[in-house]
Formats: sequence, structure tokens, C-alpha cells
Amino acid sequence: AVADTGAPTIFDKIIAKEIPSDIVYEDENVLAFRDINPQAPVHVLVIPKLRDGLTMLGKAEPKHVEVLGQLLHASKIVAEKEGILDGFRVVINNGVEACQSVYHLHLHVLGGRQMKWPPG
Ligand code: 5GP
Repeated sequence: AVADTGAPTIFDKIIAKEIPSDIVYEDENVLAFRDINPQAPVHVLVIPKLRDGLTMLGKAEPKHVEVLGQLLHASKIVAEKEGILDGFRVVINNGVEACQSVYHLHLHVLGGRQMKWPPG
């Protein structure tokens, strides 16, 4: 994984639909699309359309509270749409030690198989 530089990421191009993605859910503030390298039968990334300094959860400030709530709620909508509401996992990797690779906050919604704990 790499460190946060604040540079634009591939997710800006996905939001702008300059590169294609398999969109599962979208509203004014949030975009949810399938991970290109899925780690479970369902693996969807939920991101804010406006990064607004949220390269990672560790950069969250009081002004981000509303969108943070929207991201969690959108994760539930994704789980419902994908038929995994009875069992799913939401993951945020924060920083190098947690294997974050894209510095635009994203929630991983994972499910469709028995998950393991601890994740490692
Ligand atoms: P992270 O490791 O930062 O928590 O997660 C980044 C995720 O973005 C990875 O699971 C990776 O597979 C996914 N990803 C990276 N580039 C693309 C892309 O261009 N399209 C899609 N759909 N997913 C991507």
C-alpha cells in the first residue's frame, strides 16, 4: 500500500464516469460500485462523490459527519439490494498499515459467503 498524498485518485474518474464501473447504487452524495478485484461474492465500494479532504477516515472532521452517516446508510441499502442483509461486513482500511491503496474514503461492503474473524 502507499501513503496519502492528497492527489486525485481513480475514483474521481469513476465518479465522473470517465472510466466504467458496475454501479450498484447512486444518489446525490454517494456512489456504490463493484470492486474490480472482489474478495467475496458481493464486494461493493461505497464512496462519497465529493472527497472534501476525506482521503481516509483518519482525516474525518465534524463537517464530514453527515456524509459519513450517508455512507453507512448507503452500505445498508447496498446489502439489501444484493440480498445479504442477514450477513455482511463493512470495512474501512485506513492508511498503509491497514492496506489502504486508494486515498478517497471508501467503505467495502462484503458478503455472500461465510466471513472469517479476525480478518488478518
Ligand atoms: P483499499 O485497499 O484502498 O481499502 O481498497 C481499494 C479498492 O479499490 C481495492 O479493493 C481495489 O480492488 C479497488 N479498485 C482499485 N481500482 C479500481 C478501479 O479502477 N475500479 C474498481 N471498480 N475498483 C478498483
